[in-house]
Amino acid sequence: MSKVALVSLGCAKNLVDSEVMLGLLAEAGHTIVEEVTEAETIIVNTCAFIEPAKEEAIEALLELSDLKAQGTCRRLICAGCLAQRYSTDLRLELPEVDAFAGTDAIQEIVAVVEGRELAGCRGAGSFLYSSATPRLRAAPQWSAYLKIAEGCDHECTFCAIPAIRGPQQSRPPADILAEYRALVAEGVCEVNLIAQDTSAYGRDLGNASLEGLLRQLDTVEFDGWLRVLYMHPAHITPGLLAALAEVSAVVPYVDIPLQHAAPSLLEAMGRPGSPESHLDLLQRIREALPAVAIRTTFLVGFPGETEEDFDLLCDFVTEARFDRLACFAFSREEDTPAHDLPAQVAAEVARERLDRLMELQEPISLARNTELVGGRLRVLLEDFDPPTGGMKGRSYRDAPEVDGEVIVGDCRGDPGDFVEVLITAGEVHDLRGQVVRGQAPRKLQSATR
Ligand code: SF4
Repeated sequence: MSKVALVSLGCAKNLVDSEVMLGLLAEAGHTIVEEVTEAETIIVNTCAFIEPAKEEAIEALLELSDLKAQGTCRRLICAGCLAQRYSTDLRLELPEVDAFAGTDAIQEIVAVVEGRELAGCRGAGSFLYSSATPRLRAAPQWSAYLKIAEGCDHECTFCAIPAIRGPQQSRPPADILAEYRALVAEGVCEVNLIAQDTSAYGRDLGNASLEGLLRQLDTVEFDGWLRVLYMHPAHITPGLLAALAEVSAVVPYVDIPLQHAAPSLLEAMGRPGSPESHLDLLQRIREALPAVAIRTTFLVGFPGETEEDFDLLCDFVTEARFDRLACFAFSREEDTPAHDLPAQVAAEVARERLDRLMELQEPISLARNTELVGGRLRVLLEDFDPPTGGMKGRSYRDAPEVDGEVIVGDCRGDPGDFVEVLITAGEVHDLRGQVVRGQAPRKLQSATR
């Protein structure tokens, strides 16, 4: 048996894969260690959907290979999207790596750690775990990701994910319900539903949908937060909006990447929409969920993007007034249609547009947060806040790892507690507040309302 450490890179879907690999290894009797310096086997679960992510993964592998030279580590494994996409080439380019296990080989990780060599990459594909699969959840214990599907059937021309993860595979609703029940019973305060496109959930099963799934999850008594991440503008139906509004545990938080607003670019991206249809969608969402926090993602520097297109995007962002906005610069990915498009935009131009868009969003985010001053929010405490001596946490408006925080200066509580907070100040990303008097921090009463 080996001492195994795992470094998890990339998105929340990759993190769940990491937790599954750790669960399988622990079940097989291997010892999971936190510190890579203590490990005999190190697994790097990699991301490979854009250039910066690939660079980060290769840097991590090279850095960790030094531990082999120092003798603590005997086996270095590259797992995840980089292995799925490039293992054949990387075997030659990265001799420091002893084995590769792609996204469709997660269930074989024990054999790989124990020395078995897997054949080269096997095209696009993903192992999709079930509620019966062992999973060692990473910290924090009060917040969990629940992967409801993997892969993607969309054909966004800039995206390599379908070529890595394969077509969409949805887990059966009963299996997701079983895992949800188990997480709630464990005392988890927040469950985040994830997939490449959660709003397409069940379309490959024929008789299932996200709204149907949410109504099934509503049969479980849960006083915490149920959050849906990664939705797609093409699938926001009136029925889904009704479910988001009516299912009691669902928080009014909508994460919906729009990618751009210029119709000619959206068409070239293989994405739906226009400024008008986007604004109509936002209005439908805000009517259905009046307290909603809307997060979106844009891509700038896509081939053919003109200054006029970018100006149109800026005008749209000014009018849309998103609560949360992220932006990526186009990454020219081989095996994607956009790789060979004419009028590629220079990287420095894309970078400059990214900075301008984020600058434009700052006063909007500040205004959205300042509108909350004087109101109350339920806050999930997550950490101590040394500068104030109090605590910091998140409100329903903050998804884990990507959004802001609420700093609660006068609070004495524990991570994982909920407190009622009076908001006293709004900043670009964060809020500040104080505990509502008489409101003691409260642990989530698992399985009771
Ligand atoms: S929806 Fe588009 S961008 Fe998202 S994973 Fe699928 S193909 Fe990629």
